[in-house]
Amino acid sequence: MKPDTPTIEDALNWAKPRLVDSDSANLDARVLLCHCLQVPAVYLHTWPEKPLDPQTWLQYQQLILQREEGVPVAHLTGTRDFWTLILAVNAHTLIPRPETELLVETALSLFDESPITALDLGTGTGAIALALASERRNWSVIGVDRIEQSVELATHNARQNQLEQVRFFTSNWFAALGQQRFSLIISNPPYVEPHSPYLQQGDVRFEPLSALTAEDDGLADLKKIISQASQYLVDSGWLLLEHGHAQGQAVRDLMHQAGFSGVDTIKDLAGLDRVTLGQWSNTP
Ligand code: GLN
Repeated sequence: MKPDTPTIEDALNWAKPRLVDSDSANLDARVLLCHCLQVPAVYLHTWPEKPLDPQTWLQYQQLILQREEGVPVAHLTGTRDFWTLILAVNAHTLIPRPETELLVETALSLFDESPITALDLGTGTGAIALALASERRNWSVIGVDRIEQSVELATHNARQNQLEQVRFFTSNWFAALGQQRFSLIISNPPYVEPHSPYLQQGDVRFEPLSALTAEDDGLADLKKIISQASQYLVDSGWLLLEHGHAQGQAVRDLMHQAGFSGVDTIKDLAGLDRVTLGQWSNTP
């Protein structure tokens, strides 16, 4: 390989020994090269012999070296796919996870096509709110976040995905919601235990702790939401929460104590407890 004109194949091979710490090394290199070339993944398979121009090669090398340092691919490309959407991502909030699509799927299965109001608490990139709105154009969806930069990011993502009907604003959980009531309250709140060794590994090292951790064994925010949700739900409205795989029983107990019925936990694709739901009724 002539170092000044590496081909696509050379570039991918160059990354291999550098990304041994990533459990998705091949994919990482491909995604980053596609990002530099501004091409879809299939292009790399079709044109392995194509030489890179020097500027692209330099940009790619810089990205691979940052990835080698652990920087998440989503922070390097600035985007992450979620549901059918492409979302802008930055260091102010959580990178959307595939398992959170289970929340969206579950929410959609609870309601038919009629118009409802839905609230996404701690919306971050806006992922959940926007995915719901993309499937149900007649729903009125609000997303709130305590962090101003997340609200800006989510608003940007609404515009980019032509989902401007979703409204985003700043609110510490329910604080700014006044008298509004919703048929659906949904949230992926922080739920990782603050001293978890998990926080020292992989992409989470680059994400804000405010989006990841909660006191009280990771349950503090889940508790807050569950205890206040009934004041913001209409009769027969649903509360849907993502939580850690070991928190299913605790979240079910909290929902029962708060007076919810139909409480159930759904497992993610890995077979782990991930989403718990409960229905509110004004007449117990
Ligand atoms: N599910 C995320 C993780 O495992 C945590 C996100 C959260 O706390 N809501 O990294």
